[in-house]
Amino acid sequence: MCGIFGIMNADQASRVAYLGLFALQHRGQESAGISTLYDGQILSHRGPGLVADVFKQDTLDALKGHVAIGHVRYGTSGGSGEANIQPLQARIGGVPVSLVHNGNIVNASTLRRSLEDNGAIFQGTADTEVILHLMTKSTKPDLMGRLKDALGALVGAFSVILLTPTDVFAFVDPHGYRPLSLGRLVTDNRASLVLASETCALDLVGAQFVRDIKPGEMIKISLASAQIDSTHFETNEDDQKKPARCIFEHVYFARPDSVLWGRSPHSTRFQMGEALAKSHPADADLVIAIPDSGVPMAMGYAKASGIPYGIGLIRNHYVGRTFIEPTQQVRNFRVRLKLNPVRDMVAGKRLVVIDDSIVRGTTSQRIIELLREAGASQIHLRIGSPPVAYPCFYGIDTPKRKELLAQNLSIDEMVQTLKCDSLAFLAEEELLGVMADTVSAKADLPPAAHPWCTACFSGRYQDAVAQQLGCPEKPFCGDPA
Ligand code: 5GP
Ligand code: SF4
Ligand code: MG
Repeated sequence: MCGIFGIMNADQASRVAYLGLFALQHRGQESAGISTLYDGQILSHRGPGLVADVFKQDTLDALKGHVAIGHVRYGTSGGSGEANIQPLQARIGGVPVSLVHNGNIVNASTLRRSLEDNGAIFQGTADTEVILHLMTKSTKPDLMGRLKDALGALVGAFSVILLTPTDVFAFVDPHGYRPLSLGRLVTDNRASLVLASETCALDLVGAQFVRDIKPGEMIKISLASAQIDSTHFETNEDDQKKPARCIFEHVYFARPDSVLWGRSPHSTRFQMGEALAKSHPADADLVIAIPDSGVPMAMGYAKASGIPYGIGLIRNHYVGRTFIEPTQQVRNFRVRLKLNPVRDMVAGKRLVVIDDSIVRGTTSQRIIELLREAGASQIHLRIGSPPVAYPCFYGIDTPKRKELLAQNLSIDEMVQTLKCDSLAFLAEEELLGVMADTVSAKADLPPAAHPWCTACFSGRYQDAVAQQLGCPEKPFCGDPA
């Protein structure tokens, strides 16, 4: 997963981009980078680590110009090597460009092989680089034509900002898996346009939300006039390309204070908790959350069940997200570093423990151990989304099917493994029920259709490439939607 940001026509654009990336840090902690446009040339600084570590006063000062784009990376395709750190830069038909990408192109390895067979030399291993090579290969005279040619070959998830000396392009794949919002920032002497993966970044830089970039839409922002032109583009998928917004953004990934496709993730998570309480009640004394992601759901569960909500676990905020560590051994250790029970709250109590999701099961297993050690008398684990049983190929880091707890175990077996007293998940229909009133994401779909990707829960991928990778034994996984 990644976060992307862009600012056009601003004083100290690199500093605004720095702030924007800071607000998007939860979307990727592996590396960060900013490109600016100065005197017709593209200047870049990129490096491994957190935004605050990669950029210092002098690096931001050196990134001169009134236009900037930036990226925070959580690698899901290619390794963490320098050459994969974005923005990626190239000269295409003699024109310098810089590009930032959120999502994952599922047919990248096939495209790469055929590009390499035709002489392309790749710098890194990330999927994003194929976009630049496809643009180079195109015979169209203008950059927009080259870009449309490139996009025509792609399958999968991509929300992208592309900087050129004359225009900034922003586009979102036809399923619209990943969010990208447009905002406007008005100061005393300038009016700037802003692009950001999430609206929490618009808030931080003081920009007003204008609208979301639509699935299959490409906008071209002229740097000379600030005029915005919108067009649609085609990709090579042969299905109907209905919107398939990543429902997991609302379950877990997005910051609760953003507005994503017209919905508040915080309120959505609260409603998921309420729905969970109605369908899966528990006889208990206290509802606690696995912080931070489980908090809104636990509050919703408490409200709907009438069981008091309390703080049973304290999070150490100086420890990053547990998934970042490469090996299982380190991950286990990290859970203990990150969360500690409040003994006085949990000792002798029958607890409902709420988390947003179970992926590998590491978090819940360790936390149940900690809560038992702290004296909890019963633990009823309630999860605000369905079991994650299939890998995501669209940019969330759940790639290996055999590592997913729900792929290998039934609910009863999970209860044994996790050592809880009971376990229940929000069903897919219940989750979709909560999301049913999302007017802006539903667009022009017929009433019965929904605009969400649920593939990691259902095995119903939107395209044949992912279906083959994630669920080769279909129809066992369900029919492709
Ligand atoms: P598990 O420990 O079961 O492998 O993962 C579930 C926990 O990790 C939940 O607390 C959830 O909030 C969090 N989580 C779910 N998906 C992701 C992800 O893609 N990245 C990170 N960093 N955490 C995740
Ligand atoms: Fe999101 Fe899951 Fe679909 Fe991936 S498979 S895009 S995580 S809903
Ligand atoms: Mg969590």
